[in-house]
Amino acid sequence: MKTLNDFNFDHKKALIRVDFNVPLNENFEVTDATRIMSAKPTIIKVLEDGGSCILMSHLGRPKGVQDQFSLKHIVSKVEDVLGVSIKFVENCIGLEAEEAAANLKPGEILLLENLRFHEEEKQGDIAFAEALSKLGDIYVNDAFGTAHRAHASTTIIAQFFPETKCFGHLLAQEIESIDKVMKTGEKPVLAVLGGAKVSSKITIIENILDKVDHLIIGGGMTFTFIKAQGGTIGDSICEDDKMDLAMDILKQAKEKNVQIHLPVDVVAANAFSNDAETQITDVNAIPKGWQGLDSGPKSNALFHNIVMQCKTILWNGPLGVFEMESFANGTIALGEAIAEATKNGAFSLVGGGDSVAAVKQFGFENKVSYVSTGGGAMLESLEGKTLPGIAAILK
Ligand code: AMP
Repeated sequence: MKTLNDFNFDHKKALIRVDFNVPLNENFEVTDATRIMSAKPTIIKVLEDGGSCILMSHLGRPKGVQDQFSLKHIVSKVEDVLGVSIKFVENCIGLEAEEAAANLKPGEILLLENLRFHEEEKQGDIAFAEALSKLGDIYVNDAFGTAHRAHASTTIIAQFFPETKCFGHLLAQEIESIDKVMKTGEKPVLAVLGGAKVSSKITIIENILDKVDHLIIGGGMTFTFIKAQGGTIGDSICEDDKMDLAMDILKQAKEKNVQIHLPVDVVAANAFSNDAETQITDVNAIPKGWQGLDSGPKSNALFHNIVMQCKTILWNGPLGVFEMESFANGTIALGEAIAEATKNGAFSLVGGGDSVAAVKQFGFENKVSYVSTGGGAMLESLEGKTLPGIAAILK
């Protein structure tokens, strides 16, 4: 696996695919600069070697050239984060971009305009990728968030750098973290899968059964498993057409010696509302008119105990409707347990959508080993897929 450290960038131009797809407010100000900060180590390494950086990214989903999606809006935030002034060019390919890249001196940074202003980017167009490739000497992919897409700048471009392509620090770290869970992790290995629906997590569950010793299934998914086993779930969310699948997963887990842990009790509410009346009930005896919206105290103690036994922990998906304060306790308790296990030496990876939002919201971000920066890319990795952006560098 070729990484940044395999290259000396002295007097070289690094063409770096970053993920600067950051949220902007109505005044076009960056409201969360995490993704920019995540790319900083890669950029600094190139500059410290005596090289220059050409940064390329997409922003949002523009239809053609649309000013609100221009990367010019983020220039000052990138400068703040990196602590250096940067140059910006209003097109990512063509004469203007080529001249700006050619004039770049060691220590300088050039940011290209939104790649998706050209529809060829998403189409994975070879000519467009070749036009981009002319701008740099070494291609660096540091955008995990788009590594699952075979776009021109994430995948197709790599063929124009047969010997001079590598992973940036961020992407290398993402790959190593996933490998630690899926391949090389110290046992016992635990996966916690929460979230709303079995149907969106089924491929992950099936793939992960071969890698883990323990699997905690929580959140809305719980009730499909409980009802399938004959439990009474009241008005809880359930996918009736996935009950056979749920039974099959339980059977497969037994055959593979994986211990599955489901909640034993829940916080049940009489409405899907933060102000609803609540009661603690057994998970398989929820009265009609009530729905399970969070894991209960017994479940949280049980899960704490399992988390503390494990040396490698993956967490994807909340254990309850954490967006509402009344139903956030299960997710918070799990975060606390994982933080404690991490402090005791376990490796913990949090990734994929809402669990990342939850760890940030509740302040666990720096108490787990690694928080993934890619939503869809993370989920596809956990499904066992080889991401095209990663394969293109390894080729
Ligand atoms: P996902 O995107 O599949 O990870 O699902 C995340 C969503 O699942 C969050 O918005 C949670 O509010 C929701 N969720 C978690 N537990 C439950 C539950 N018991 N009932 C309904 N929704 C839930």
